[in-house]
Amino acid sequence: MRVPAKINLQLSVGPLRADGYHDVVTVYHAVALFDEITVSPADRTSVEVTGEGVASVPLGPTNLAVKAATALAKATGRRGRAGSGASAPRSRTGVKIEIRKRIPVAAGLAGGSADAAGALVACNELWRTGLQASELAEIAATLGSDVPFALSGGTAVGLGRGEQLTTALAAGSYSWVLAFGATGLATPDVYAACDRLRAARKPGDGSSAAKPPELSNELMAALRSGDPVQVGPLLSNDLQPAALSLQPLLRRALAAGKEHGALGAIVSGSGPTCAFLASDADAASELAVGITGAGVCRAVVQVTGPAPGACLVDSGIAT
Ligand code: ATP
Repeated sequence: MRVPAKINLQLSVGPLRADGYHDVVTVYHAVALFDEITVSPADRTSVEVTGEGVASVPLGPTNLAVKAATALAKATGRRGRAGSGASAPRSRTGVKIEIRKRIPVAAGLAGGSADAAGALVACNELWRTGLQASELAEIAATLGSDVPFALSGGTAVGLGRGEQLTTALAAGSYSWVLAFGATGLATPDVYAACDRLRAARKPGDGSSAAKPPELSNELMAALRSGDPVQVGPLLSNDLQPAALSLQPLLRRALAAGKEHGALGAIVSGSGPTCAFLASDADAASELAVGITGAGVCRAVVQVTGPAPGACLVDSGIAT
């Protein structure tokens, strides 16, 4: 399976809820930066990870791809289990999951969620469970807020915690430059910083209380037009001040992008990846060179969006 990274074209964050989550209104956009997931039958469930950021990816039952396989096994009555041990079943109820990571870890690009979505669809194929896309989406939502979007890809509006999806009417293809940070940011830390910043605002300045999040009609109209010049200035992210407070160097990355002609410059999700919109592929190449030259990030890649969701590359099975 090939599974895409996402950026958020809009991320509006409501007040902290009693259950510790925040309501969000977000516009997800899948981009052509993919992790690859391969699954094969095994006696017990295991995961191997290669590529970008492997040192920070857990290799046991907390790996999101393993969680996805385990959740699917449970939902369909298989006896698969994670880990080893004398009690491991003798029949091949497990799965060997191989992840080739290209999406940086803890980067605000939902790479772990992508791996979960990839493992879900791959195991669904491998085990021939016959589950429909809607049933997979239900399991996906139990694994994480961004997992349902990684299944569907494209451009979509996410409500609730982000898991309630509606496909967005978006035209055209967009050229992006992504700038990766030297170190990751943990999503819960960024939400906590966002709450702290909001609590510290002076009452009466009109912004102390977080308002219920609302979808930007201007952004939706711009996406329907397919014109990056219209979309660029409408990109927004309520988590950006929090990400900048935790990694102040990101300001320099955003400034470098604007200086080199980005139509829009934004922190992706909880960061620290910065996403820059260009008018076309040539402009994106120039932007990528300019940002690289500024020396304000670890690496720069050029990608297009929207990209498809989790999809089968090669079953490896002769039919
Ligand atoms: P979020 O989806 O919460 O915005 P993110 O995109 O910033 O997260 P991820 O790359 O999804 O970041 O990683 C978040 C954490 O999930 C990491 O710290 C990592 O330890 C854990 N994790 C579990 N499984 C995976 C996986 N398969 N790939 C990457 N990270 C994983």
